[in-house]
Amino acid sequence: MKEKERLLQTCCIDLHVHMDGSLSVETVRALAELAGKPLTETDLEIRSKLSVSRGCRDLSEYLDKFVYPLSFLQTAGQLSECACRVKEELRQKGLLYAELRFAPQSHRQKGLSQEQAVQAVIAGAARSELPTGLILCCMRGQGNEEENRETVRLARKYLGKGVCALDIAGAEGLFPTEEYEDLFACAAELGVPFTIHAGEAAGPESVRAALRFGAKRIGHGVRSAEDPALLRQLADSGALLELCPTSNLHTGLFPDYESVPLRALLDAGVKVSINSDNMAVSHTWVGEELRHMAETFSLTDAELRGLLENAARGIFADEETKDRLLRQIENV
Ligand SMILES: [Zn+2]
Repeated sequence: MKEKERLLQTCCIDLHVHMDGSLSVETVRALAELAGKPLTETDLEIRSKLSVSRGCRDLSEYLDKFVYPLSFLQTAGQLSECACRVKEELRQKGLLYAELRFAPQSHRQKGLSQEQAVQAVIAGAARSELPTGLILCCMRGQGNEEENRETVRLARKYLGKGVCALDIAGAEGLFPTEEYEDLFACAAELGVPFTIHAGEAAGPESVRAALRFGAKRIGHGVRSAEDPALLRQLADSGALLELCPTSNLHTGLFPDYESVPLRALLDAGVKVSINSDNMAVSHTWVGEELRHMAETFSLTDAELRGLLENAARGIFADEETKDRLLRQIENV
């Protein structure tokens, strides 16, 4: 087997994968049964509710695909089962490591507290042997300051006990990153590492704010390529970008893979990793995303290896875990 193929089959790491956007049809069926309401729809019908249409370039169609899976993620039993299943599906694909993220405040429709949601996901994740960290997402929005502060508090409380970091997700175009300075100052003060979704719907100023707050990683960050000075700042900072190419196509950010500024980022010395974002919504997984980039940009074996090593060095974990992943990649 060729080196590239061996790397893709045995060394993938996904640092940016949302749990609620990554439910397989089998998982949805299992979660519906847990609620005592087995689904009667066909697999095809369920998949059409979970995934965007082929060729989707529309943010509202994309965001619409989270409503259905979230309706199955409202009890502790469902959250545990889901976390375990998503991890097992990743393990079966040959992943070395994954950081699964979710927003505890999105799982309160039936009265769970954020803390109960976090405890349930931690318990379910522990049932799968795939090495993982959980990232808790705050949400951009209006009137949820208290909820976001609670998410930060929980990230601190469960840091090293299943949780590895904090994030903020949601409508970046409507609620600028700059508005969340206090929230991340609080996270920094508590010693909680964080990544921030930035430079996706909003431009370079959003990434600048995330760097100013002390983000070690940036979710997407692709619009940094619009600003050469920012590219230099990113390269100097050593912050890792979490690119999710197919997601960017589906939300209408880029028309095709060729438009993803991977070459510009690599040429500028910016650290880049490739990730899935939402496996069910975009009908993909990290290996597939790496394959798209390798084919579109004719990546050499060394370049592909470099992307995997960037991911291994960028995980929110101790040096020992990073070294172990790097050795596994080196031995392929
Ligand atoms: Zn994301």
